[in-house]
Amino acid sequence: MGKYEDSYRHKGLRKKLMDQLREKGITDEAVLDAMNNIPRHFFLDSALDEIAYEDRAFPIGEKQTISQPYTVAYQTQLLMIKPQDKVLEIGTGSVYQASVLAEMGAKVFTIERQKKLFEKTKNFFLKQKYPNLKFFYGDGYEGLPTYAPFDKVIITAAAPFIPPRLIEQLKVGGLMVIPLDEGAHQRMLRITHNADGTVGEEAFENFSFVPMLSGRKG
Ligand code: SAH
Repeated sequence: MGKYEDSYRHKGLRKKLMDQLREKGITDEAVLDAMNNIPRHFFLDSALDEIAYEDRAFPIGEKQTISQPYTVAYQTQLLMIKPQDKVLEIGTGSVYQASVLAEMGAKVFTIERQKKLFEKTKNFFLKQKYPNLKFFYGDGYEGLPTYAPFDKVIITAAAPFIPPRLIEQLKVGGLMVIPLDEGAHQRMLRITHNADGTVGEEAFENFSFVPMLSGRKG
């Protein structure tokens, strides 16, 4: 079977996965709809085709992973995406999370620090489908000052601290979802940028991410 074939079997497995996500506490149907529309097996090595709809992370090369569907759903739900939201994502990886955001109608700006992973996005197979998704090679700690401010910021790697540049690039009233490093696990935080310049913080579940590293890797 060709890699880019979305069979009834795949669709069925995907629907089951959405049910599992609901059971685990995901309630935002817009998020589940978007994930149900995206063939996750397209983002993985074809050897993983059969297990692409298990709720787990998988290797994508360069010591990186495609996040677990539950994690993607959880972070996206916390972002409260509205169509036309300008969203900055740190850690493009497999482009799966960015595609979910694009599918929801957001204008997505995603940054990857690893050249090899960034180069792969040049042939991204859903490029035509998502003209609202733009790829950048750079250091996520710097953000994208040229395109700022953003309504939402999502970090998909374990951040040792809240990157100050990214707060600067967040609109007043905007939201940032960030897994903050606490040793082996990260605490999922939602940061709000208040009108008086202060920053609010809500804490959620613990997750496990690959580290957010500084600088670009050629
Ligand atoms: N959102 C991705 C998850 C990728 S894993 C997906 O849906 O598949 C995290 C990614 O963050 C890796 O590709 C890693 O190279 C990248 N990363 C780590 N530190 C970064 C930084 N400072 N700037 C940009 N990307 C970074």
